[in-house]
Amino acid sequence: MKRLLSPLLLLCTLLALTVLAAGADSRPLSITLEGAPLDIPEAYITPEGVTMVPLRALSEALGFHVSWDSASRTASISLEAPEPPAAEAEEEVLSGLVVLDPGHGGSANGAAYGGVAEKDLNLAIASQAARLLEEAGLTVVMTRSDDRDIPLYRRSGLANSLGADLFVSVHCNASLTNPEARGVYTAAADRQSEGWVLAEVLRQTMMDAAGAEDMGTEPRPNLAVLRTAQVPAALVECGYMSTPAELALLAAPDYQLQLAHGIAEGVVTYLAQSR
Ligand SMILES: [Zn+2]
Repeated sequence: MKRLLSPLLLLCTLLALTVLAAGADSRPLSITLEGAPLDIPEAYITPEGVTMVPLRALSEALGFHVSWDSASRTASISLEAPEPPAAEAEEEVLSGLVVLDPGHGGSANGAAYGGVAEKDLNLAIASQAARLLEEAGLTVVMTRSDDRDIPLYRRSGLANSLGADLFVSVHCNASLTNPEARGVYTAAADRQSEGWVLAEVLRQTMMDAAGAEDMGTEPRPNLAVLRTAQVPAALVECGYMSTPAELALLAAPDYQLQLAHGIAEGVVTYLAQSR
């Protein structure tokens, strides 16, 4: 009740303050309101000797909020603070279209060690990455979501025809010369491409997520999926199937999930920094 009465009280006070005065054009003023002193830093005095108290000074001293619309020359006094302007993208929600390409498939096994086919590892890791990216709000299209042959050109071609924001081909590595080779390796068509930026981001986020060794990023202009992609494109090699200890990791679902987190993190990081 008291709060409802207050605006009326304020109006009455303003009228009551229209009193005769003389002397300076403006001066500080103290008034007593409901028994409490209230200091107004500046009250104005017209040539006719009328004391005018600024609406804002008095209202704000009383805890009201004042706004002024100069177009309609309207002052508004309210109990509540005006709504602050909506924050510009409070939490930036990422949107985008990502094409993930699990390498090989169908009759193309890719590398094969210890009874494990690369095509199956690629699909398992890429599927997990796709799920994580969808959870992050992105649209993900897979070049294959089961064990089937997909021609190389159709892989990058899908990203091109969809106008995807980026393309990532997921593979596992093998070394014929180094039986100890371990770690994450990424590639892009060339060092000047946007794909190179993507490939370097992915290498870092995958190493971080999986605790993997660093096998670097290289330009691979002869890889068809990279060369023919018209969108930022990278190829990731998740680890070395030819190294038994790393093959055991690559075949383990929890390590696959770590790698998938690394891929998803890299994609999100790249998209965020390229906008
Ligand atoms: Zn491969």
